[in-house]
Amino acid sequence: MPDGSPWHYLDTAATAQKPRAVIDAMARALGEDYATVHRGVYTRSANMTLGYEAARRRVARFIGADEGEIVFTRGATEAINLVANSWGNANLKSGDRILLSQLEHHSNIVPWQLLAERTGAVIDVCPLTPDGRIDLDAAERMLTARHRLVALCHVSNVLGSVLDAPRAAALARSVGAKLLLDGCQAAPRLALDMAALGCDFYAFSGHKLYGPTGIGALWARADLLEAMPPWEGGGAMIDSVTFARTTYAPAPQRFEAGTPAITEAIALAAAIAYVEEIGLDHIHAAEQALVRQTREGLAAMKGVTLFGPEDSCGIVSFCVEGVHPHDLGTILDEENVAIRAGHHCAQPLMAHLGVPATARASFGLYSDEADVAALIRGIERTKRIFG
Ligand code: PMP
Repeated sequence: MPDGSPWHYLDTAATAQKPRAVIDAMARALGEDYATVHRGVYTRSANMTLGYEAARRRVARFIGADEGEIVFTRGATEAINLVANSWGNANLKSGDRILLSQLEHHSNIVPWQLLAERTGAVIDVCPLTPDGRIDLDAAERMLTARHRLVALCHVSNVLGSVLDAPRAAALARSVGAKLLLDGCQAAPRLALDMAALGCDFYAFSGHKLYGPTGIGALWARADLLEAMPPWEGGGAMIDSVTFARTTYAPAPQRFEAGTPAITEAIALAAAIAYVEEIGLDHIHAAEQALVRQTREGLAAMKGVTLFGPEDSCGIVSFCVEGVHPHDLGTILDEENVAIRAGHHCAQPLMAHLGVPATARASFGLYSDEADVAALIRGIERTKRIFG
């Protein structure tokens, strides 16, 4: 904090704080290196293009993919909307089915509802296990040959529950459906390898991965991406334009209309370098230890309800009896403890849990035991205030 007192940031699932290396990379890209990409014949623009494309390679390597399969987007939301508008419009028709789950973020619900309205497709909702995982046994019973798409969250932003992605992929494949994974919370927490996951589409946001806002990525299997029609038109996504006929650039450029988020992509690459230096296995293990400590601390308190599985990944949601999560968040703020309180853009999950909102503590690579201790202290104080 400005006055030098410690700040306990427990809202990394909403957005991560930025390492100095990312801020410096962004400042350099906006400052002494800055120029446009893909158009300039002068050296500085050519260098910027190299930096932008190197960022694409870095993102690809980070998730075990090929650079030609990475589309830069504004974030996970835009990545999912891209799939719905391009692949979805081209491949779904009336009576086709889409399987989602009860715990999805609105970003992985609303684009499919809009697609369903456009095409006449039908959405099914996979239930959860009692401890808050997507119930893949139920998914297996629900899937039919009419299902064209299964779209699921890899790590829940509310419950921290981790999907068994290879099994979900096998289930989708068994009925000829594609699998899209919302990897927003997984990308900063789990080592990713697209081949091992077996999915068809993967979406994530840079700002949750210690990079800037305004940048994210869609990974799509090369054969799918190559066959997908453009969804936004403009500069940079064309091959040639005449009023008689316009032809389009190959993927991924076909999906990046307009001047891209150049500096953000370069800063995202710096964020990935930072994360790789620490190691996702290390980050994951450290977050697991903090989750354990938090859950133990909260479970020992009277009147606290914990949501999600014991082994939730970096995220703990809870309610304190007689205290609205917003009041809890406000009182914790007086102690410099920042948590998220609300529906977390997952209203269907709140309805399932039977609460209007939860309090959520989420960790990042800078979180430590002092943050957990401050949270527990703050909740004890709140309980005393509320009697
Ligand atoms: N899915 C999940 C699981 C998320 O946590 C979020 C961000 N809260 C999103 C999708 C949307 O990400 P963005 O707003 O960065 O596009």
